[in-house]
Amino acid sequence: MKPETACIHAVRDATHSTGAVAVPIYQSATFSHLALGQSTGYDYSRTNNPTREHVERLLTALEGGVDAMAFSSGMAAIATLMELFAPGDEIIAADDLYGGSTRLFENVSRKNGVIVRYVDTSNLSAVGTAVTSRTKAIFTESPTNPMMKVTDIAAIKEMIGHREILLIVDNTFLTPYFCNPISLGADIIVHSGTKYLSGHNDTLSGFIVVNSREIADKLRFLQNTIGAGLSPFDAFLVTRGIKTLAIRMKKAQENALAVAQWLQKQLKVTAVHYVGLPDHPAYALSQRQARGFGAMVSFSVDNVKTAHSLLNHTELILFAESLGGVETLITYPVTQTHADVPESERLVRGIDEKLLRLSIGIEAVEDIIEDLERAMR
Ligand SMILES: *Cc1c(COP(=O)(O)O)cnc(C)c1O
Repeated sequence: MKPETACIHAVRDATHSTGAVAVPIYQSATFSHLALGQSTGYDYSRTNNPTREHVERLLTALEGGVDAMAFSSGMAAIATLMELFAPGDEIIAADDLYGGSTRLFENVSRKNGVIVRYVDTSNLSAVGTAVTSRTKAIFTESPTNPMMKVTDIAAIKEMIGHREILLIVDNTFLTPYFCNPISLGADIIVHSGTKYLSGHNDTLSGFIVVNSREIADKLRFLQNTIGAGLSPFDAFLVTRGIKTLAIRMKKAQENALAVAQWLQKQLKVTAVHYVGLPDHPAYALSQRQARGFGAMVSFSVDNVKTAHSLLNHTELILFAESLGGVETLITYPVTQTHADVPESERLVRGIDEKLLRLSIGIEAVEDIIEDLERAMR
């Protein structure tokens, strides 16, 4: 089954007792037992719920994993994942990660004795040098946000070799429609389902997908114990969103390329970061490890005035955090997504007051460009 088809048909309602085409919302906290020692397979919704199970099976199928777990947000998924680690364990993380992940590592994981060190994971030898006998995981995101650095997942896996180091990939930007990190050697995939998977900026959700039963069992235990599982209604919304994932990703990517090419021609634009541009340093690598480039574009403008003008004067494009929805959004990393990153570090990474980020939606691209053109004038 091709990915487009899998988004719609990979999982059918297991009981199929009514013939309902859409998965029902099992809005029930608890499930009754027919008799002592008997269970329908459902006991209590923190542990398992049929609507949540449906979307979990869907993510398992789309990512080619062994199991998947759904959480109330991407951060709930990552926070639960971090409970796999014990005091003294070291994790090597990408230095251009989603800001919320860094905030979790620095303020929660560190307090629990887990040491996270940051390196540019697109630089293989830097990752190799950072690995020690205490390293338990490498946590990366690709492409990164907002500088669009791409990590060679298969090469990192090869570098790890037979050492017991988990390779974790945050696949939010590319989604299973464009990239399947497990097939490249990742052990664990995380997603903010809030973004492209649900796709309509109407629900938060998160996922962990794993490639082994052993890790799945540990995480199932943690999901039930911590209790941050996805609610039935939100599971329904994500399932519905995924039905159109393929068509949304294709259109958003097509728009993103057109916008990136247009931006490159503007005198007030000094740099464009989009992995789908043939002159992006990771264009060839992206083609090798993914079926698409996604729809996230960041760019620098000539001065702060132009940046502010864009933020204040776009009309169609909404000035808002988040990404991956049908609407095109513009973000100011310096005051929004990356406000918590110390200034010195931000500047080293190129995140300054002239950098803007676009999450390109599925509107008519002429309207997106016209809006940018007017706001930039
Ligand atoms: C948004 C995001 C997260 C966090 O997900 P939430 O659903 O907002 O909790 C994690 N990683 C990436 C790459 C994201 O974009």
